[in-house]
Amino acid sequence: MKQPPRHRSLLLHAIVVASLLFSANASAEDRYLQCGLQANPQLIRLHEATGGKYITAHGTLRILIVFASFPDDETPHPFWPAHQPPFFMHQFIDPDTLTRSTESFNLTNYFRQMSLGQFNLIGDVLWVESARSQNEYRNWPYGRANTDIIKERLDSVDFAQYDQWTRIEDYNTVNVPDGIVDMIVMVWRTTMYMYLGEASLGYMPPIPVDGKLIQMGFPERFDMPQGSGVTCEYPYADTPALVMRTMAHELGHWLLGGPHPYSTQLASKHQFWGILCAGERLSSCANAYERERLGWITVPEIDPDRDIMLGDFVQTGAALKYHPSNGEDLEYFYIENHQKLSIFDDATLNPGEKGVWILHQQLPYLDLDNLRIRPSDGNWKWENAGVSSACFSQELPVFRKGVPRVMTGESHRDQIPTQSSSINWLYAFQGDTGSVQCGIFLGGEGFSGAFDTATVAVFSPSSNPSSSTWSGQPTTFSLEVVRMVDGVATVRSPANPLDAAPARRFLGIDPTVQEVLPGHLPIAWGSQWGEGQPLETDVTISSLQRRIAGGSWEGVYDGPSTQWIDESCHYDSTGPILVAFRARVQDSQGKLSTWSNTLTARASGFSGVVAEEVNVPSSAALEDCYPNPFNPVTTIGFRVAGYGSQNPGSHTRNSEPGTLLVKLAVYDILGREVSELVNERKEAGHYTVHFDGSGLASGVYLYRLQSGSHLETKKLLLIR
Ligand SMILES: [Zn+2]
Repeated sequence: MKQPPRHRSLLLHAIVVASLLFSANASAEDRYLQCGLQANPQLIRLHEATGGKYITAHGTLRILIVFASFPDDETPHPFWPAHQPPFFMHQFIDPDTLTRSTESFNLTNYFRQMSLGQFNLIGDVLWVESARSQNEYRNWPYGRANTDIIKERLDSVDFAQYDQWTRIEDYNTVNVPDGIVDMIVMVWRTTMYMYLGEASLGYMPPIPVDGKLIQMGFPERFDMPQGSGVTCEYPYADTPALVMRTMAHELGHWLLGGPHPYSTQLASKHQFWGILCAGERLSSCANAYERERLGWITVPEIDPDRDIMLGDFVQTGAALKYHPSNGEDLEYFYIENHQKLSIFDDATLNPGEKGVWILHQQLPYLDLDNLRIRPSDGNWKWENAGVSSACFSQELPVFRKGVPRVMTGESHRDQIPTQSSSINWLYAFQGDTGSVQCGIFLGGEGFSGAFDTATVAVFSPSSNPSSSTWSGQPTTFSLEVVRMVDGVATVRSPANPLDAAPARRFLGIDPTVQEVLPGHLPIAWGSQWGEGQPLETDVTISSLQRRIAGGSWEGVYDGPSTQWIDESCHYDSTGPILVAFRARVQDSQGKLSTWSNTLTARASGFSGVVAEEVNVPSSAALEDCYPNPFNPVTTIGFRVAGYGSQNPGSHTRNSEPGTLLVKLAVYDILGREVSELVNERKEAGHYTVHFDGSGLASGVYLYRLQSGSHLETKKLLLIR
């Protein structure tokens, strides 16, 4: 049955949408929460287009999926037994618009969610075994295997039913047959061709069948600019969901064009969130640029100084964009709130990582790295911290954060060591506590990527990452995540960037800005290091906190300065105590930043911390040993009070006025004396003794001072 011409149904859409918009009269905020089906002004603007570049992206497209195997392929495959149809074969696509499958590997479901119901990709599925062996095709292009299958094995198919659309020009398809089959998806049970998918049937001569032509090319191949399908492999290690994403990606080339938003070099580090699926086949939902370009959503430019609510991007289509006036003509920041409500939303694989993602796009897709995620965790100068075999039973380079690189720093992903494939991105990361964390990225950033109110709420000229243009020029763009309630983000873009809260990442703490004095650690925090990024100029008060050996945070500085020197601690690079610092600032409007990332330094000795007091003396006579922990020698200081001066009420057995009997000894934790350091009369004054722990086991020891009636005990730690 013939369907009505496309332009007629679009006209109907336009009328309905226009009346909805006219009568809705809802507050401007609500508009962004409505799904694209309810309010989609883009449909009006694209009245003559169907959205997809080379195939329709609206209405119903019925396709044929052919699963093909070779008779000599016995390789084990968990989802596709040899000489049989693949498991769940018919669940890869719905046969009609009523079935509404919900599987994670169902193409109809995928495109229904991405298009907000505007694109019905339906179709039929069959399995065939090739007449010839895999071996016979080894030295031939896959187009030849496709050709043979179509000619020799698909007699039962009426190809006429797969010609419903005519392509007039780019972004302009009408719903009438043109004699060319619209779309066949060939899926091979092999890895023979060493690719995962290709947006053509393999560039062979066209095949006449059922009064139609099956074209084997792709519109951007000048020598063969017509095509009727795509080719995919279903490798032995793939899941159905993974091969479905390969199919969606290749179909995506027909919708969006041939180039990717990332380099096609194997080592490209930006293979995410582009052409519907990330990294050729992994992740994710279509991004705001793609959905906008296909006419599935409208992405309004963000209004300054106004609270705007953003529902879940995948489910509602809500998104915003910002064009930096000093950027490239087609440069945009896209703002999407991912709450992972859709099974297809794997912006990251960490289920708890929800929030606002900022995508930075420079140009249309050009097979360059021209689409980046701006992860809230910032740009860092990554340092190589050696090699670890603690992750994935293999040696991986360990990376850790160095100094923030607000303007030119690289994303996490840039530093993830890859295996030979671009699919699994394994990493070993040394965090603030010094321990190695293992992780794996399967598309999208790995951790701390989204902006939200709990971690990083501000993207601004002085944040890290900053809102600078692609070429590094400062913009005036700030975005604050004001609230996050029930998965709905309220964002605001102050016209004056200083009206935003101080950014977190501008704070980067730098231990190197001053010459390090022996034993002391000068710390500075601010935004002006190295790269000339704009300052957050209205910071008024800073707070600095310190955490020793994994203990609790304690404030060490509050005030107007942005630097502080820790003189209480003996720092050196080999010390056993990890001391961490973090800072936050308040601006002239009283807005607080979130805590900065931590700076971690090593200390060998520390006042009053590891050597915590066991009993509290009335007067501090026993000093902390130094260093502590120690190996093998440490120094203990103590004071002897003048008789009758500091302890006027004490009774003493002293027979010599002006002196006190002083005993200082070291005990193990069972109370056994292991070393007597002092046992004699001493005059008032300050003394130091050395304690040599050679011959003792590592561990906690106590040292006790008995001076007249004064008794005081402290801990020391011997670490070998
Ligand atoms: Zn591709």
